[in-house]
Amino acid sequence: MNLTILEPATESVLKEIPAASAADVSAAVARAKSAFPAWRKVVPAERARLLRALADGVEQHLERLARLEARNAGKPISGARWEIGAVAGVFRYYAGAVERLTGATIPVAGGVAMTFKEPMGVVGLITPWNYPLYIASWKLGPALAAGNTCVLKPAELTPLTALELELIALEVGFPSGVLNVVAGTGLEAGRALVDHPDVAKIAFTGSTGVGKDIATRAAQTVKRVTLELGGKSASVIFEDADIAAAAAAVPSSVFDNSGQDCCARSRLLVHESVLDDFMNHLSIAVKAWRVGDPMTDVDMGPLISAAHRDRVSQYLEGAEIALEGDAPNGRGFWFKPTVLGPVSPSSRVAQQEIFGPVTCVIPFKTESEATEIANGTIYGLSGSVWTRDGARALRMARALDSGALSINSNSSVRYSTPFGGFKQSGYGRELGPNACDAYTEEKTVFIKTE
Ligand code: NAD
Repeated sequence: MNLTILEPATESVLKEIPAASAADVSAAVARAKSAFPAWRKVVPAERARLLRALADGVEQHLERLARLEARNAGKPISGARWEIGAVAGVFRYYAGAVERLTGATIPVAGGVAMTFKEPMGVVGLITPWNYPLYIASWKLGPALAAGNTCVLKPAELTPLTALELELIALEVGFPSGVLNVVAGTGLEAGRALVDHPDVAKIAFTGSTGVGKDIATRAAQTVKRVTLELGGKSASVIFEDADIAAAAAAVPSSVFDNSGQDCCARSRLLVHESVLDDFMNHLSIAVKAWRVGDPMTDVDMGPLISAAHRDRVSQYLEGAEIALEGDAPNGRGFWFKPTVLGPVSPSSRVAQQEIFGPVTCVIPFKTESEATEIANGTIYGLSGSVWTRDGARALRMARALDSGALSINSNSSVRYSTPFGGFKQSGYGRELGPNACDAYTEEKTVFIKTE
């Protein structure tokens, strides 16, 4: 079977590649397993050097990788360049972490105990199509730094940059078998990786439904699992906020990457007393949002596929459109940036992850009501609070059930800070100074001295 890789802006075929079968996954796991004993013994300084060389290699190929990512994922080339640059940044950050991966010595009765952070062995990494290489780097960086060997299964719609990365790793000197990429479907290659008895851990980013399937299947071999799943993040805009700034920030918070972003602010909770003012400002911002050919200077490209466009479209049936931007007609999986509302907090569009350029407005009256609405979904990944009252900002930040919160901004991810979800947005944390812990087993050794 082949994977037909499309360019969503033109619907033309970018590449046909063979789909990895379950047997291909087994072969990759076997390569990773045989590379592990030597790789875990590579001294930290050398592992760090190789990760820095990988970062340099990515930067040398930055323009080529960015163009490939932009065309295949339909994302604006400026964003793709930023992402590939950030991939190099992640590898450098975890090169620095290699030498900080220390244990502890603990005085205990009768002797001394010490702890080691041991690599797990072969780890399986399964990634989505929205930030293909960037999210792969969040897993590869700490997994390799900690001394594991990796089998990465990128999303079947966007595997091209991961396949390039595998070649770059070999080119810069990574031993063969340390970083393996298998491009296949979720049901065949993904499940084969999850079920494989020689895989110690699965790090997954994707939808909540698939995350549940993975956690259930991984339980059969008691694999370690970390899950970065869906979101339905809220921006809470209080009456004392800079309303113009809050409204101007909305398009990038939810239409960036065509809304195909787990942290997309797909609910706008607005204090009822400033709703009209907010909507007037938002209308200007939505109209100014430029949708078009991702290889040019635009804010947003198409959606990833025809099937995904159909899925997103269904959410508009029967919904009241408050504001709408423009999008090209004709070939390409285009979708107009859309603001729905006002909607009820319990409505389908306010509860389910749409994963497209669609947000909805929900008016509120009090801080406690805003907290209840913001926390009233199965998700808890990210969110924003807009207010000039510092105490309220912190009160809200503490009260919201979310892994990442931002005050007077929409920032969610930095590779130097932990990232992950509450509730059904997943478990475990990626990025930040402790990410290697998710790829190590802690071992205690006791030495009898008495
Ligand atoms: P998806 O869950 O459909 O697929 C993700 C990956 O899992 C792909 O590689 C796919 O091939 C694989 N897969 C599918 N079924 C599988 C199975 N049964 N067993 C093993 N692997 C399987 O997600 P998607 O559509 O690629 O991405 C969109 C979703 O990802 C959204 O829900 C979004 O919120 C989420 N996401 C979360 C984060 C985060 O950090 N929390 C980041 C980006 C995307």
